[in-house]
Amino acid sequence: MQLKKISNLIFIVAIIFMAVIIYMGMNQQPEVEEPFDNEGRYDSTILNNMGVIYNDSLDIAHWNNGYSESTNCPWGVTHSGLDYIFYNNSIVIAAAPGLVEEIYMGWQILPYNNIYWVSVQIKFNESMTITYGFEGNSADAGVWSQQEAMLDVEIGDWVTKGDQIGRFLRPTEYDHVHFSIYRYNQAICPRLAMGEDDYNEIMSLIHTFQPTWELCYP
Ligand SMILES: [Zn+2]
Repeated sequence: MQLKKISNLIFIVAIIFMAVIIYMGMNQQPEVEEPFDNEGRYDSTILNNMGVIYNDSLDIAHWNNGYSESTNCPWGVTHSGLDYIFYNNSIVIAAAPGLVEEIYMGWQILPYNNIYWVSVQIKFNESMTITYGFEGNSADAGVWSQQEAMLDVEIGDWVTKGDQIGRFLRPTEYDHVHFSIYRYNQAICPRLAMGEDDYNEIMSLIHTFQPTWELCYP
């Protein structure tokens, strides 16, 4: 008798539990991502006037890598962006307007190189996002945070073209800002989004170091 009461009780509790689960499932809204809205800050229909990320071409120490989709390029490896080798403490500016969506730090400590990067991700519209990766060689976390402290933007900030994103810290001569532009998370040649004057500007910079090079290689 006692046993039957208990099993009945368990049965009722189980029924209630299942009913609650079903009720919650019925009320669950499907997750919808908010469409990108810049509230009229700039024309975000197309990105076709993207600029360079320096104020002064004399802030650039060298040019070693552009964008390449295969190894068939002067530097011999695929590369998803442009490496701006700035001198220490140079100003880095925004190539296009947008919303600072993310700032993140990463590192790779290996016997032969110790790379860290502080990446600033700025969204232009629904499909286009630009990243500014402040990359350096150092295993010292103090150096990484020093670079982070040299940024002038925070997550949630809106920037316009030419706004200062930060200053570049250069622990070694190999350090640079890795600049990438993504369309639906796929890196593309920056030329596709650049204005004509800005393209001519970067090509004259590249040709001072590498007279025959292109910006991008397929
Ligand atoms: Zn790079």
